[in-house]
Amino acid sequence: MKKSLPQETSPTIETLDDLSTLVNYSLMDTLNPDPDAKENGVDHAPRQVFSGHYVPVKPTPIKDPEYVTHSKDFFRELGFADSIAQSDDFVRMFSGDISQVPAPMRKVGWACGYALSIFGTEYYQQCPFQTGNGYGDGRAVSVLEAVIKGKRWEMQLKGGGRTPYCRGGDGRAVLRSSIREFLAQEYMHALGVPTSRSLSLFVSKTEKVQRPWYSPGSRLQDPDRMISEPVAISTRVAPSFIRVGQLELFGRRARKQEHPKAMEELEKIVLHLVDREYANVIDNKLPTAEKVVLLAREFRSRLTLLVANWIRVGYCQGNFNGDNCAAGGFTLDYGPFGFCEEFDPQFQPWTGGGQHFSFLNQPIAAERNFHMFWATLRPLLASQTDSLQQLDEIRSGFADEMQMAMEAMWAAKLGLGAFHAELFSELETLMVQTPVDYTVFFRELSNVPNDISPLQKSFYKGAAYEADPEGMDKRWSEWLTQWKSLITSGHYAQSCSREELSKQMKLVNPKYSLREWFVVPAYQQAAAGNYSLVRELQEVMTQPYAEQSKEAEDKYYRLRPSEFSELGGVSHYSCSS
Ligand code: AMP
Ligand code: MG
Repeated sequence: MKKSLPQETSPTIETLDDLSTLVNYSLMDTLNPDPDAKENGVDHAPRQVFSGHYVPVKPTPIKDPEYVTHSKDFFRELGFADSIAQSDDFVRMFSGDISQVPAPMRKVGWACGYALSIFGTEYYQQCPFQTGNGYGDGRAVSVLEAVIKGKRWEMQLKGGGRTPYCRGGDGRAVLRSSIREFLAQEYMHALGVPTSRSLSLFVSKTEKVQRPWYSPGSRLQDPDRMISEPVAISTRVAPSFIRVGQLELFGRRARKQEHPKAMEELEKIVLHLVDREYANVIDNKLPTAEKVVLLAREFRSRLTLLVANWIRVGYCQGNFNGDNCAAGGFTLDYGPFGFCEEFDPQFQPWTGGGQHFSFLNQPIAAERNFHMFWATLRPLLASQTDSLQQLDEIRSGFADEMQMAMEAMWAAKLGLGAFHAELFSELETLMVQTPVDYTVFFRELSNVPNDISPLQKSFYKGAAYEADPEGMDKRWSEWLTQWKSLITSGHYAQSCSREELSKQMKLVNPKYSLREWFVVPAYQQAAAGNYSLVRELQEVMTQPYAEQSKEAEDKYYRLRPSEFSELGGVSHYSCSS
């Protein structure tokens, strides 16, 4: 399953010293530290943080770290030599010990607070103090900001120990959840979906923590026992980790005038977001009001496209609340996520998630997050009637823009030049009733088959199908005939050959999906010290559109075997940390 790599340019970062020349801590240098914080970052007990944008925190290293994997693709993009991933000082730093990093790297990292909103409703009770002042990065500690090849990146340790926002948690991430996030980030990137990236993954050979989990074979909704799991630190990387919920925290404080600098802190974080995530589209010299309007328009555009892309590839975020919604418009925080197998508009792998965050409800959930974003920005334009009106129009136009993005996405999945409502509606009904495997169905369709037999490879054949297989097949045939006439000529057809159309559709409809039952044995074997399956999955899933080898196809281009449906920890999970 080797892949041919693009022409390599020689790496420019071969040591931590090379990386240290590129550091630039814009967040710590331009935003406000918590005035109650300790400069040395020894700040590991839950407490309220009343003001400031960040808390300096020293990460807590995991004991006896061992290399699991790194992202070769991302290393190449950054110009990192593969060899540094296993060098002593890299392992030390990215397993949480930053006490010996070379200057001007700093020996203290930072954590940020954020507010929680779920589907557009503000919450405070998740904070142990019921004030919202103790909620935020409980176990994620950023350790570096650097400008690499002209792009600014923040590097964040997930599972890097307790912060003031840990709410009594242990500050750790287990190997299972770290492998899931590591693989998913690189898979999503390879699919062309904007996302935070994976840098490296280290596991502790000796440190374990307890987590609730499912007994083997359990079909219960909730975990039925505690298990001991190895802890890990994965490093995730993004232009920034600013979340909608983070802006909301400052918006709430400004609205309630919680302290004299509340409005100023709101403006500062919003302008920082513009610099970090929108510098290429928003001129730094513009007045704040104009920046805010442009920011809202651009975020709306990114968020709608992002969610349309999620649905294109079958991704369900699972817990799309305000603090899991990156203000830069990319996928962030892979917790109770999953990829849709049997097509179900209400697919939701997280037992605590509810229908509001289910697969095809994500456009509505996104709108709720956008609403909170809009409400947060409004006070900044209080005295500027024109700008405020523009901002309000951007808010009210969300649903239309979202729908346009969805229609364009469905049209592309179907190889059509424009969305055809009737064709899609019948397809959706058939996909649910049969039901089909979402990935296999669209991939088989991308071959532009002559009849429905190749499509039948994607059928799970549920009760509705079995009740009347001939009738269902007839409807599928009629649907296929209509689809074929639409792609061939007329308004909906694209002017290209059947071969070209197939090629184009295969760049929209991936062949390989990161199915949970592929990931489970990978993290189980990894917990026993064997990382080969993790690395194999990484290899296959970072070229999801390619046909790959026969071996890869036999192993990974498959419908979910029935023994995995309704299986605790595979088809659903209650906890993901
Ligand atoms: P999530 O729903 O996974 O995004 O988690 C909500 C918040 O809980 C996150 O922002 C984390 O900071 C925090 N959290 C989750 N697990 C832990 C843990 N083991 N220790 C400390 N904080 C945690
Ligand atoms: Mg989160």
